[in-house]
Amino acid sequence: MSRLLLVSNRLPVTVKVEKDNVSVVRSAGGLATGLSRPHERSGGVWIGWPGDVSRLSDSQRAQVESRLADLRCVPLYLSASEVSRYYEGYSNRVLWPLCHYMLDRIPRQDRDWEVYRKVNERFADLTARQYRPGDTIWVHDYQLMLVPAMLRQRLPEARIGYFHHIPFPSSEIFSTLPHRHDLLKGLLGADLIGFHTVSYVRHFSGSLLRHLGPDTDIDRVIWEGREVRVGAFPMGIDATAFESLANDAVVLDEVATLRRRAEGQRILLGIDRLDYTKGIPRRLLAVQRVLEREPSWRGRLRFIQVAVPSRTQVEAYATYRETVDELVGRINGTYGSVHNVPVHYLYRSFNERQLVGLYRAADVMLVTPVRDGMNLVAKEFCAARPDEDGVLVLSEFAGAAAEMSSALIVNAFDVEAVADAIEQALEMAEDERRTRMRALRAQVKEHDVHWWTGSFLDRLNGLPAASERKTGSAPQALERMKAAARLHLLLDYDGTLVGFAPRPELAAPDDALRALLARLVARPETSLSIVSGRPRETLEAWFGALPAGLHAEHGLWSRARPDQPWRMLEGVSFEWKERVRPALDAFSSRVPGSFVEEKTASLAWHYRMVDPEFGAIQARELRLHLAEVFAGESLDILPGDRVVEVRPRGVHKGRVVGEATQGLPPGTLVVAIGDDKTDEDLFAAMPGDGLTIHAGNKPTRAAFRVNGPAEVRKLLGELVTP
Ligand code: UDP
Repeated sequence: MSRLLLVSNRLPVTVKVEKDNVSVVRSAGGLATGLSRPHERSGGVWIGWPGDVSRLSDSQRAQVESRLADLRCVPLYLSASEVSRYYEGYSNRVLWPLCHYMLDRIPRQDRDWEVYRKVNERFADLTARQYRPGDTIWVHDYQLMLVPAMLRQRLPEARIGYFHHIPFPSSEIFSTLPHRHDLLKGLLGADLIGFHTVSYVRHFSGSLLRHLGPDTDIDRVIWEGREVRVGAFPMGIDATAFESLANDAVVLDEVATLRRRAEGQRILLGIDRLDYTKGIPRRLLAVQRVLEREPSWRGRLRFIQVAVPSRTQVEAYATYRETVDELVGRINGTYGSVHNVPVHYLYRSFNERQLVGLYRAADVMLVTPVRDGMNLVAKEFCAARPDEDGVLVLSEFAGAAAEMSSALIVNAFDVEAVADAIEQALEMAEDERRTRMRALRAQVKEHDVHWWTGSFLDRLNGLPAASERKTGSAPQALERMKAAARLHLLLDYDGTLVGFAPRPELAAPDDALRALLARLVARPETSLSIVSGRPRETLEAWFGALPAGLHAEHGLWSRARPDQPWRMLEGVSFEWKERVRPALDAFSSRVPGSFVEEKTASLAWHYRMVDPEFGAIQARELRLHLAEVFAGESLDILPGDRVVEVRPRGVHKGRVVGEATQGLPPGTLVVAIGDDKTDEDLFAAMPGDGLTIHAGNKPTRAAFRVNGPAEVRKLLGELVTP
């Protein structure tokens, strides 16, 4: 087992000062429990902020440090200004509302980004200092979104995981953030990026596609030559601990007391941090609606709402508290009596034992956030019900809803619907309550926090090590090329020598490229072929005068020198085009911005100008459709860069290698450079001692990798620089 370095904003400890004595106590939270086993067993360390220690004397500080060292925790101290700007400012005033779809809560002016970035850098530096080769690093949550890439820069070989504990919003929402690119790139430094649900994975992939370009293939995306995995790992709770507390004699006593006090009443329960994502006002309104429309419930409902004080330094939380206070007052004023009030509102925190007492005493648990990454309270409630009773009303906007379909799932924005669900829960027959609770408990117990930790770490540790994934770099390729007695270059055009333009005809060669190619063919002992998917008319118009081999339409047409005629491969059929064309036309008419390009022996559907997410989905759809309808035909359906191309099987760039290298003197180094799937055929057909270079970020069989057309030109330029 490799050593595990855990990195989170907060260390899983609380520092307490009593007179001269300082104690450091482990926190009991779900994350701390779930990670404590791998943390201890692997002999690793946990890096994070120990909380405010600014008032400690030097000797107290020393005591804390020594206790932290015993717990294998490495403290990163934050100054008061860092806490207010990195933590409260950027993390909690910007990223938190953004990820919870609350754009109007984000300050108009983006003042704290620089401090967020700097603190992330401090985390990366400290982590890199703790790192030993072979360690696994696991970074947690939205306060540290830049850390994975900062670590990748410092430790290219490290195995790095990241987990996002809050929702990842739809790309429409994420797009509004000024620093969206930096944050996405920050996460892509990881080898594995985990979210609670598949929706969040989809949203993240959508943002990548829209803002950085790469398309996620099921669970992997290529970024800067590395394969990054994404996945859904729904977090669980320590279900065994909650269950055993629920059977504890003291807790059962407390349950009996709670029930006795509520005699003749049904208990509704809400337990949340006082956070504007939790939907407390609408929940209160729903309870009010029940009392309003069903007078028979008046005096017979006791709604206990625990609201744990949270982020009290952030104004939005203070305003929210006022709203909740006011609503509670209004409902109690309207529906209370001298003996009783409907809402028992408790603004404080409770320990686990007290919480479990409440869970076990409740008839109906109301978990109705307007947005929540997961929501552990919903799971804790079920684990705390070994009696298999109690009804869970759960918002469809909590991540937990994706797993807990046996709850009463509600639209938390629809007060009337929540009121309906409360009544349905109150009136539900015992049989149905048990059936639902059994299913919920099975789910919660099986997918507990240990399962969560294990599945994330197994996936992360099962990925190939960085050293096994390596391809050579540009300087290494250049060295081999310069050392060769003779060179023959096979160069792809689009994406290799020039970048992509909105339409193919706009990506014409510029003067600098023309000059570069002219110098290359003039270099002693050097020859060149351009191997492209373009029609021969285009290559002829652009490069007709160049003393180089031209190969058009992926090798269907070839022309060895300017004074020689174009020749076509023999035995290639074209009649299929009439049958395939209508399918492509249908897609281009239903996908605005896309169009069909026709070449001698192939058809291409281009979607570069289409909304990236929609285009990628339609391209997948088109490939499936074509593969199904033309299954019996001898056709290849190729995904390219924002294009799907259909061509007869057997016409591919690999066919060019033999012809282009025929008759070259022995000792010639053949070099192939290309960027997309069609160039992989070229690489596959290369002689064993040839040199293959992939220009870009995709998976490749090439031995070397450079980063797109600019680097290809630089590499070729250095060949002709004396
Ligand atoms: N909790 C607590 N004391 C309280 C109320 C809640 O320790 O008085 C715990 C609760 O048991 C749960 C956590 O706080 O584990 C809340 O987690 P959840 O995912 O529901 O919401 P979050 O606060 O993370 O948004």
